[in-house]
Amino acid sequence: MTDPKGEFISSLRDPGFVVADSRMEYYGCCGACNTSVKEAIGGRQEAHCSPKSHHQYAKIKLLGREEARNLMFDWLSNRRRKKLTESPFPPVWEDIVRRNVAHYCMLDTVEQARLRALIQVFIAEKDWEGCGGLELTDEILVTISAQACLLLLCTPHNYYRNVQTILVYPSTVVPPQRRLGHFETVLAPLEIAHPILGQAFQQGPLILVWDAALRGGRHPELGHNVIYHEFAHKLDMLDGAADGTPPLRNRDEYRDWVIICSREYLRLKNAAERGKKTFLDAYGATSEAEFFAVATEQFFDQPIRMTEHAPDLYRVLKEYYRQDPAERVHHNTCTMS
Ligand SMILES: [Zn+2]
Repeated sequence: MTDPKGEFISSLRDPGFVVADSRMEYYGCCGACNTSVKEAIGGRQEAHCSPKSHHQYAKIKLLGREEARNLMFDWLSNRRRKKLTESPFPPVWEDIVRRNVAHYCMLDTVEQARLRALIQVFIAEKDWEGCGGLELTDEILVTISAQACLLLLCTPHNYYRNVQTILVYPSTVVPPQRRLGHFETVLAPLEIAHPILGQAFQQGPLILVWDAALRGGRHPELGHNVIYHEFAHKLDMLDGAADGTPPLRNRDEYRDWVIICSREYLRLKNAAERGKKTFLDAYGATSEAEFFAVATEQFFDQPIRMTEHAPDLYRVLKEYYRQDPAERVHHNTCTMS
């Protein structure tokens, strides 16, 4: 079996090349003629350069440009994030979280500190925009961020790297009607735009509604949380597909997830078709993606109910989020209904 990358790297082991480690990439730049190493090794050196021995490869850093850029970006991000989290969490923000996010008081002190650090970075890194006349305040930013970051509390993450812009409307909003593209023909009536509390796009901004965000944070007993819902969609989309299955750790987890979630999704679909209510909102029967978002709302808002009605679903979500909200409800002085 050939190893193209290995062969390429060994071909670079001419005197003068420095092959530092396995992270080395295929690209470099010939100091003599400015031809990329990949081009030169691929045989184009005759066209562009004097014989190979004349190439000034010695000082070439072989990290790929993109990788080098990513490493630099990561380094800068980590530095900036460290600075952010080392600065004190404003007491007024702490009051806001305690007042508006019921789940916060159930976290232990270590988790609370971790959530506060997440909030600091999240607020700073996202582009926030108040829409429909809404003026953004600390209360809005902190309340939304605290709920969004609760989902990340115990998982490896990159602060929702697929969320850059967050648009916040004061209340229920009707999104603009989708227009047909130049080459689109109408095969079915276009879906009529209806009022929404939030919307997550694969590409594009996240839309949230402030009054619903506040209500959901303060009243978990209602079992509806637009922030958990929309950010669960963004977690789902991290692998490029909004299909109700976010990136998981291994094949066993995927297998388990598909078996349990398919079964529970069909159960909800059947109940919804018969007009029967279950512990999950019937909106979750719309698609697998909506099922995951609705299940996430219940997992954090009504964990005890979920353990009673769908213990397997609770288990796979617990393994995914690496959190046990039902345990928190059992052991904390704060209670959730
Ligand atoms: Zn949804």
